[in-house]
Amino acid sequence: MNIDEITSYCRRRGLVFPTAEIYGNYSGFYDYGPVGVEISNNIKNLWWKTFVQSREDVTGINGSIITHPKVWEASGHIASFTDPLTECAKCHKRWRADHVISDALKKPIEGLKIEELTKLIQKNNIKCPDCKGALGVVQNFNQMFTTNVGAVEANTAYLRPETAQSIFVNYKPVMDSTRMKPPFGIAQIGKAFRNEISPRNFLFRLREFEQMEIEYFIQKKQLSECAYFDEFKDLKVNVLSEKEQHKGITTNSIMTISKALKEGVFNSEWHAYWTAIFYKWYLNLGVNPENLRVRQHVKEELSHYSAGTVDIEYNYPMGWKELQGVADRTTYDLTQHELFSKEKLEYFDEETRKKEILYVAAE
Ligand SMILES: [Zn+2]
Repeated sequence: MNIDEITSYCRRRGLVFPTAEIYGNYSGFYDYGPVGVEISNNIKNLWWKTFVQSREDVTGINGSIITHPKVWEASGHIASFTDPLTECAKCHKRWRADHVISDALKKPIEGLKIEELTKLIQKNNIKCPDCKGALGVVQNFNQMFTTNVGAVEANTAYLRPETAQSIFVNYKPVMDSTRMKPPFGIAQIGKAFRNEISPRNFLFRLREFEQMEIEYFIQKKQLSECAYFDEFKDLKVNVLSEKEQHKGITTNSIMTISKALKEGVFNSEWHAYWTAIFYKWYLNLGVNPENLRVRQHVKEELSHYSAGTVDIEYNYPMGWKELQGVADRTTYDLTQHELFSKEKLEYFDEETRKKEILYVAAE
């Protein structure tokens, strides 16, 4: 089935409908129907049971969708959560520059600067896919939805573009109220919003979506002390490493988690462990092992907060795409929040009598 056939199947069988269809097309938003809501709830319930309720080292929260705007300043989203945008001079339709280029040149385009994208458009004479008009200079477009809070118009707030920050700003009250000690994780299932320039591929790239996420905090000295690693070290996974991508290789190699760790695909034992346990979870859900792989991000595509990311990718009808990212977020977010809030967010180690910002080994 291609993506259009899947879309119409889901509509016919009551899984997913385009939102408010009677008013016409409203791109990037879908409503779950009677069957879809049950499937979606089942997946969320199983995830919560597996990764939160069955584990002593993980606890949960449910943060608000609109939070203090300072959060997004500290996290770097106001400055750098942008997509490259190009506008057609003739029909004025706006396009994701990297997508238009990638479609025209039939190869993936990742991590290029806006100047480089503009050059590619000009050099290859790439035109508007709709009307063949000329495409303009590529600009950065911030993906966060804004709104106003209260009666004053200037009080700009944002719909959260990721659930992760709700976890970082609640890390202190969670630690204080539960007395959890590292290594420990905080989990959340909730909605996030991104003003995608051109939402596409049905449920794959949406403007409103749900995330299931864990931020896992450790002390830096615990980076290679993952007590659960042995359970997963022999799990065989499909891997496409950074090294191979630099050589232009696009086929996966099969290797064990411990071999992939040795080859530098993962940043630490914890990073490898969390990737492995989620990979296994997908297999247990019935995902065909041939359609699942771990792809290491190449340096150029790493997010501003990440020291290393792998994506668990699925082989969709439109090719291999991210199902879940597992990033080593370092101490970046907590350090930023300490800086911007001027509140101490350190963990106090009672044994060594030392304070430190905890390290996010995996999210
Ligand atoms: Zn056009």
